[in-house]
Amino acid sequence: MSVLVTGIGELATNDVTVDGGRPRTDDHRDPTGLLGLVDDAALVIEGGVIAWVGAAGDAPAADTAYDAGGRAVIPGYVDSHSHLVFSGDRAQEFAARMTGEPYSAGGIRTTVAATRAATDEQLMSHVARLVAEMRAQGTTSLEIKSGYGLTVHDEARSLAVARQFTEDTTFLGAHVVPDDTDPDDYVALVTGPMLTAGAPHARWIDVFCEDGAFDVDQARAILAAGAEHGLRGRLHANQLTYGGGVKLAAELGLVAVDHCTYLADDDVSALVESGTIATLLPGVEFSTRQPYPDARALLDAGVRVALASDCNPGSCFTSSMALCIALAVREMGMRPAEALYAATAMGAQALDRADVGVIAPGRRADLVVLDAPSYLHLAYRPGVPLVTGVWQGGRPVAPLS
Ligand SMILES: [Zn+2]
Repeated sequence: MSVLVTGIGELATNDVTVDGGRPRTDDHRDPTGLLGLVDDAALVIEGGVIAWVGAAGDAPAADTAYDAGGRAVIPGYVDSHSHLVFSGDRAQEFAARMTGEPYSAGGIRTTVAATRAATDEQLMSHVARLVAEMRAQGTTSLEIKSGYGLTVHDEARSLAVARQFTEDTTFLGAHVVPDDTDPDDYVALVTGPMLTAGAPHARWIDVFCEDGAFDVDQARAILAAGAEHGLRGRLHANQLTYGGGVKLAAELGLVAVDHCTYLADDDVSALVESGTIATLLPGVEFSTRQPYPDARALLDAGVRVALASDCNPGSCFTSSMALCIALAVREMGMRPAEALYAATAMGAQALDRADVGVIAPGRRADLVVLDAPSYLHLAYRPGVPLVTGVWQGGRPVAPLS
């Protein structure tokens, strides 16, 4: 059964080759020409994918129709960095931080204790609730990491839970060294039995490469072990301090390196050379009062930039990609078009996903209807719930009005 979505006032396709689309160098909506905007647009969904995109006047017939009433439609967000498998909350720690206490990587251990104590059913229902929360806000693809179990059993079950919700699961046994554990022994565990138990449920492997977590040599060894199990690498790097994590990611040709807050000039040039995507997580800086990464400098240097939520109970408990866009525009010098593209098309590239992030024939029909005439309202009206409808794989998953 085919569905014609018509009456789209402004369609952001992320595809400049789309029929009727063109770079908008004549207004402020898409000066870089990234978004492939089509005004007065329509599209057809069939078999879960986009079958046709173009001007409403040229639309073919379909079995049923939905009239967007002049509202804007964007691709579903691709949130390429989240830590949803956990139990407990750290609202008290947040409150303490807001009264002046600094953020440190060690707070992770609080969540580890709560996560280990939770049943499988509790973890599953908690993740389901957060995924539903994300979907209602327009996120239609996401990555989920383990990393709050830190035992062979708890990491494997965290990944098995995450796998119920996404193909893009990431083994993050190397999140922090558990209490009373020798760091070398722990790296041996992560690269040995824990990896063997987690790998069947994971697509990616990640390391928190930071002072207080894992150093560059440890990260290199852990990523190499993951590769032997068929897991592709990603890194948390340069979040709290300058360090060698970003250069390691570039050297290894990783698809993405995440945080990138403290970068030296040679980190930036390494990212340009390798093409590794810098995934910026501005919700973290917002929630920890750390300085924001310099997205403008990265983009001007030619670095590929994605935006993601980093939804987690410690440093950033938001699931809102719209908030990330607003922060990227307001605090990090990104143009609105760059921020939307980073939260959709670049998120997909950061997960090496060719099927999502773009509205074009053959792509998965992941669409978000905004109660606004333009996607610009995502940053222009921060904090306002603008999502009025979501299709995921051609299926309505949030109320369409
Ligand atoms: Zn993270």
